[in-house]
Amino acid sequence: MHASLYASLPEEIASRLGLEKAYRGRQIFEGLHKRGQDFASMTELPAALREKLTAEVPLFTSSLSDTLRDEDGTIKLRIRLADGASVECVLLEADTGRKTACLSTQAGCAMGCAFCKTGALGFRRNLEASEILEQFYHLARGRGTINNIVFMGMGEPLENLEALRKSLAVFTHPLGPALSPRRMTVSTCGSAPGIISLADEGPAVGIAVSLVSADEEKRKALMPAARRWGLAELKEALLYHQEKTGKRLTLEIVLLKGINDGADDILRLREYARGLDVIVNIIPWNPVEGLDFQEPSEAAVQLYYSRLERSGIPAVRRYRRGRKIGGACGQLGEV
Ligand code: SAH
Ligand code: SF4
Repeated sequence: MHASLYASLPEEIASRLGLEKAYRGRQIFEGLHKRGQDFASMTELPAALREKLTAEVPLFTSSLSDTLRDEDGTIKLRIRLADGASVECVLLEADTGRKTACLSTQAGCAMGCAFCKTGALGFRRNLEASEILEQFYHLARGRGTINNIVFMGMGEPLENLEALRKSLAVFTHPLGPALSPRRMTVSTCGSAPGIISLADEGPAVGIAVSLVSADEEKRKALMPAARRWGLAELKEALLYHQEKTGKRLTLEIVLLKGINDGADDILRLREYARGLDVIVNIIPWNPVEGLDFQEPSEAAVQLYYSRLERSGIPAVRRYRRGRKIGGACGQLGEV
């Protein structure tokens, strides 16, 4: 038995463990996901089964190697996977007390965005669904209910679609965390085929696209993936997704001083957003050692925001939580 049971659905638990009674699979699933129990605490199971599970099945296959706390309340965990790779995940708490888990889907990332620390590390491997789920449970332990999930940690989620879908099947399962797909957002650097696949086959999670720039040449220079999926192909996929799901999209703009923060950038963005129901998420660039970009000043961010508003494009500024612990967007690292 290698992987933990976290990514197994009730019927899969029953068949993996060779349990004759299907309801035992459901009991174990509920124990793990709803009550956060280890096997020894699942008292509705026969004692012999509890002992067998405790002896033979690892509760977690990953382990917590570091916990960092920012003074703003953000928590970043470094998690060591069974093969020695590491990933990071973050728990953000809003002023209202609502908690959001930011999860990684890959160790490293192959997409190579010039402004991102994870991109600078290169790609190590896709995570298993159980490794995605375990991040959530490492974050949840002793910290109460997590209300939202964003797949915005390390890696490109739509390049690991199978494991992403599997983890979503567990996150939304009524006997498990039972999170509504509306409380989950997948962030992509712009995989048109991945967006189409989500539109066709679901699940109906929110989509955030890291557009960064609506200027093809600028985008290609900053994001190598933009050569694979050009702006026109991406827009087609977004229109398709919108038509099929009726959902509003988020466009993420990592604001880089002097590069994509000008009035002409807004004009292009407005042009690109035509026909799309979008909200723009402005993310002032978070510093990464060794990367040669600059943070926009507070005044530049404000100017960008008000220009967007004047263009009739709804926008929000992403709060800069977790920066002191390297837990903000684009700062996750160490493979
Ligand atoms: N691979 C996916 C999701 C992970 S990146 C994607 O690219 O969308 C999560 C977000 O962080 C993306 O919007 C990305 O553009 C942004 N980002 C990357 N590096 C950043 C940095 N240094 N500062 C601020 N945001 C950054
Ligand atoms: Fe990968 Fe996203 Fe970072 Fe680009 S921004 S390198 S896609 S994690």
